[in-house]
Amino acid sequence: MPEGDNVWQAATRMHAALAGKRLAQTDFRVPSFATLDLAGWTILDVVSRGKHLLHRLSPPEDADPSAGSAPLSIHSHLKMEGSWQVYGAGERWRKPAHTARVVLRTEDGTSAVGFSLGVLEVIPTAEEQTVVGHLGPDLLGADWNPALAEANLRAQPDRPIGLALLDQRNLAGIGNIYRNEVCFLARVHPATPVSEVRDLTGLVAMAQRLLEVNRNRGSRNTTGGFGPRGNSWVYGRAGQPCRRCHTRIQHGVLGEGGVSERDIYFCPRCQPPPQH
Ligand SMILES: [Zn+2]
Repeated sequence: MPEGDNVWQAATRMHAALAGKRLAQTDFRVPSFATLDLAGWTILDVVSRGKHLLHRLSPPEDADPSAGSAPLSIHSHLKMEGSWQVYGAGERWRKPAHTARVVLRTEDGTSAVGFSLGVLEVIPTAEEQTVVGHLGPDLLGADWNPALAEANLRAQPDRPIGLALLDQRNLAGIGNIYRNEVCFLARVHPATPVSEVRDLTGLVAMAQRLLEVNRNRGSRNTTGGFGPRGNSWVYGRAGQPCRRCHTRIQHGVLGEGGVSERDIYFCPRCQPPPQH
């Protein structure tokens, strides 16, 4: 499941492969943009904002100004299954072709292919704020601001910390794996209300460090050790012994109002459930 570090990696990889290149061909395989042709446009930048990706494009120099030639951005979100991959000329795709939602091919034959994207749309770059403006500070962004992230979390003191961390309006980039791992490291049960988290400042700092150390890694590891299968403290480890105290890790779900229930993993001894 994509988290902020994966999205950051995807953006960095695509920026290195595509920035400054002109598009020779584009193929949008979603109904609302099926007829859009961005051949001749240049890719300026590929950036991530939280778990959103933005490919920023400048129009062809010979574009007809009357046709509207303001810079455009391809906005995508990976959601649960999505990925962006870069291929050299003639290279075989590693995902089924029918799951491709967009293909961007540059003049040198490099292709970026977006598979199973949860969101795909093309908007004027000037309007990016309408799709990412709601996001809190980005854990891997130039705008990272731990004090603001903490203030955002504290604004809803009764909300379980495990839900507040997933809310991208508070801070952007944490998915289900990191929220479980961060709660374990901070020794708080995910259902604990934000106001009862003893060291929220430390928890926020730890979340940022975890994403940062993982953004350049090939595979995610939140523990820093324990061998090939030791890449998490609690996530996906239901029934296995806690790496700290050997108590069995428990699995549950945490949601609000019956929606957005997501798996939680915790050690009942290291992270005692809240007492009410
Ligand atoms: Zn434990």
